[in-house]
Amino acid sequence: MKRILVTGALGQIGSELVPKLRDIYGDNNVIATDIKNEKQYWQTQSGPYESLDVSNGQALFNLSKKYQVDTIIHLAALLSATAEKKPLLAWNLNMGGLVNALETAKELKCQFFTPSSIGAFGPSTPKEKTPQVTIQRPTTMYGVSKVSGELLCDYYHLKFGVDTRGVRFPGLISYVAPPGGGTTDYAVEIFYEALLGMKYTCYIAKDTYMDMMYMPDALNAIIQLMEGDPDKLFHRNAYNVTAISVQPGDFEKAIKKFLPDFRLDYKIDPIRQAIAESWPNSIDPTVAKQEWGFSVSYDLDKLTQDMLERLQQKFRSNAS
Ligand code: NAD
Repeated sequence: MKRILVTGALGQIGSELVPKLRDIYGDNNVIATDIKNEKQYWQTQSGPYESLDVSNGQALFNLSKKYQVDTIIHLAALLSATAEKKPLLAWNLNMGGLVNALETAKELKCQFFTPSSIGAFGPSTPKEKTPQVTIQRPTTMYGVSKVSGELLCDYYHLKFGVDTRGVRFPGLISYVAPPGGGTTDYAVEIFYEALLGMKYTCYIAKDTYMDMMYMPDALNAIIQLMEGDPDKLFHRNAYNVTAISVQPGDFEKAIKKFLPDFRLDYKIDPIRQAIAESWPNSIDPTVAKQEWGFSVSYDLDKLTQDMLERLQQKFRSNAS
């Protein structure tokens, strides 16, 4: 990776990935793009920003050519809960954007990364320690698009030699940008509400386990995989990665260590609960560890402490 174009750069992942990539590869070597026109924000971030709708394949190609990029990190997508409400839009954006980005990577001989998700699994997948290679019959449009995306990335690698790489992210927890309409968003909201009102009403049921990971570990995973030795990558699209398997009450306990008065109650959202129940309880990241050295630094207690400290700082600086 030397010159990188990022799509969907104003989302939860891109908002932290772009500054991190700029620290490593240089401000002008990371081109942030998104359909939103938030130039002012990015102007303060010292580095190029371009408005780009990934459903316009020609525009994606032209920008990649203009900046002579050698890597595309494709993040633009509709997430699980929103996708279930707008399935056709989700299919068109998630598959149309992906094929446009892959075509550009093929034409310009770029390295390519796009995230898949635990949503690529379904109710017939083994629920505990879900293996790297297993049954993938998701029952959500998000999942259907993610499995199709994994296959499409495999196809572009096998057929055209594109250096495609990807991970199956679990729910990502972060304090910089709000999450974009996923099923695991509660795991971010709970920290905001704990600090703002000492109380959170969770839309996911008490005993529902899902995998989660802290954003710094997710960013390191992207960079480590992209810098990994291609000869060792047998399962390119996409690797299981995770840090913790948790239910909402686990966050309650962890937050109470710092905020003893925090209270959690429940009001279940049937759509997001059904999605959560169709996903694994815990996935097995062994293959990612073996093939490119995946590891994490944050467990539940460490990420809870960091989230609470960072959000407090954010609230203080927003107030001043
Ligand atoms: P997000 O919803 O926060 O951000 C997506 C960004 O894409 C937004 O800034 C949006 O403006 C942009 N976008 C939407 N339509 C676009 C279009 N037509 N053209 C260009 N940009 C467009 O998503 P995220 O959480 O940053 O996720 C990025 C990727 O990671 C997605 O593929 C998602 O499925 C995957 N993923 C995320 C998580 C998570 O917990 N955040 C977990 C698993 C996988």
